[in-house]
Amino acid sequence: MSGFQTIDQISVAHKIVLLRADLNVPMKDGAVSDDARLTRLLPTLRDLSNAKAKIIILSHFGRPDRQRNEKYTLRPVAAALQKIWGHPVAFADDCIGDTAKNAIAALPEGQILVLENTRFHAGEETNDKAFAKQLAELGDVYVNDAFSTAHRAHASTEALAHLLPSAAGRLMQAELTALEKALSNPAHPVAALVGGSKISTKLDLLENLVTKTDILVLGGGMANTFLAAQGINVGKSLYEADMLDTARAIAIRATEKNCRIVLPTDVVVAPKLQADIDTQNVPVTAIPADQMALDVGTQSAQDICELLKTCKTVVWNGPLGAFEFAPFDHATVTVAQAVAALTKQGKILSVAGGGDTVAALTHAGVTDDFSYVSTAGGAFLEWMEGKTLPGVAALMRG
Ligand code: ADP
Ligand code: MG
Repeated sequence: MSGFQTIDQISVAHKIVLLRADLNVPMKDGAVSDDARLTRLLPTLRDLSNAKAKIIILSHFGRPDRQRNEKYTLRPVAAALQKIWGHPVAFADDCIGDTAKNAIAALPEGQILVLENTRFHAGEETNDKAFAKQLAELGDVYVNDAFSTAHRAHASTEALAHLLPSAAGRLMQAELTALEKALSNPAHPVAALVGGSKISTKLDLLENLVTKTDILVLGGGMANTFLAAQGINVGKSLYEADMLDTARAIAIRATEKNCRIVLPTDVVVAPKLQADIDTQNVPVTAIPADQMALDVGTQSAQDICELLKTCKTVVWNGPLGAFEFAPFDHATVTVAQAVAALTKQGKILSVAGGGDTVAALTHAGVTDDFSYVSTAGGAFLEWMEGKTLPGVAALMRG
């Protein structure tokens, strides 16, 4: 990779910049309930505004079924952005045609205009060239700051990039730089921590990680399936009986690729998944028949922390236990704090992502101490799976 341009390399001064952002924020009772996605746009907005560009924001919002639907208007999101930005943010009722053109003509340089939901037009999700052309007509250059939607080839994320000089915004730039350092061109040894409930949802991820990492530490429900594949009785634990052969195949592939798979040697068990229930810490070979393994054990958590001290890069997806229910958050919190400490000491580069993983790291209070925590969800996972993201590929030149 690294072949993408940033806004330092294309000329944005006094230009009309079409900025693809991710304004798909959560709403409650008609108001934005979490404005993190808006705050993260500020570095790009500041740089473009300082260059006296006209900033024209394109985004999807929700799933309006390829037609206008007022339920999915971006108007309230533009209002929320105005509060965060602290200056006027204009809004136009359509993202193409005269409505958009007139609003752009009226916009002073250095200011922001949000165009209505791109998904109100059928051509957005079909990556339609004609629709992308209608978007391209509006501006001089294209800047994509929506890594979180880069796994979808839509007109405003893919086709449009081919029609104008294009570059990554600051958020996209930070995300790509962190991801490249973590897996494309990492300092070795590289450890991957993978947890979560099931192997079946993470097959592509595991297959890619065994080829790219030196150590693959497994936790969560998926470790149970790997243990069961070794003939260990996992009692009532969540595990996938139909994935035993798959688990064995992944283990063989790991050996071929010189990737060491690390499974827990002890686990925390309880009769059921419930907060503050009585638990025991047992060796994996002694899981009682009527109990479930709900977290990596205390010894294994310590061992993982020690192992990470020997690494230079750590990537993480999937909590090590059922962290939503204390005390099954113990291993996840312990290891998260160890990764945070090693990162702060400058000993490792750490990158994590995934919906529940971000929630778990927030719960552990360490998100700011990791090198990078991706909130991109599906796009982050597809990148971890080694897939080419169309929105990123479209920014690559030559
Ligand atoms: P992400 O959203 O970060 O990709 P996943 O969705 O794969 O992560 O996994 C998160 C879920 O895995 C959590 O809801 C957690 O409770 C569950 N989980 C982790 N360990 C276990 C376990 N031992 N048994 C059952 N569920 C588990
Ligand atoms: Mg999840």
